[in-house]
Amino acid sequence: MAAATTPTDPSDPTGPTGPDAQERPRGRLTVLAGPTAVGKGTIAAYVRTHFPGVWFSVSMTTRRPRPGEVDGVHYHFVDDAEFDRLVEAGEFLEYAVVHGAAKYGTPRGPVERVIREGRDALLEIDLQGARQVRETWPEALFVFLAPPSWDELVRRLVGRGTEDEAERERRLSTARAELAAQSEFDEVVVNDDVRRASEELVSLMRSGRAER
Ligand code: 5GP
Repeated sequence: MAAATTPTDPSDPTGPTGPDAQERPRGRLTVLAGPTAVGKGTIAAYVRTHFPGVWFSVSMTTRRPRPGEVDGVHYHFVDDAEFDRLVEAGEFLEYAVVHGAAKYGTPRGPVERVIREGRDALLEIDLQGARQVRETWPEALFVFLAPPSWDELVRRLVGRGTEDEAERERRLSTARAELAAQSEFDEVVVNDDVRRASEELVSLMRSGRAER
């Protein structure tokens, strides 16, 4: 079999141009997790805008859309029966009930395809999901997004104002447990500034390439 002679840039979103797809370097899967309201969504939005070469998994969820959320862009919004059917069919890379409320899951097919194509993929999921991916995809990079402090985390959680008191309490108790899990991760990025933290995340995603 002839070796590919075309130099390839693995961060090129169009993928390598070599003649044999089998010779493409696989992309890298990065899992970003962290406590609720730490700003994962904001970081994700910044990375989407400024680093279009990074592919984002779109999760399925049974929770209702918030104002401004678009089906198929922010989440695939499905009902309980459809979610359970996909679980039965083995369609999720991981899934979890988050905050004791709605179900969330990462569709397996798109992630596997993108990695095969040599692109970098990012999952923004909760800690339970990250632990499942650690079991099935240990070569992924696990990044913990941490708040600058606990007080700041509480301020952000309350400041968002989209949840009622009981929901806030549930989320805080989840956040306490999640903060304690930092040490399970390969890297910790402190979300003190959206741009700085986003750039650090992307540079971590890319730094692993040389080791492959
Ligand atoms: P929200 O409802 O605020 O969008 O997200 C709630 C939590 O669900 C966040 O911590 C988010 O990271 C997590 N989450 C979003 N998608 C997934 C997913 O596909 N799997 C898992 N395990 N958690 C997810």
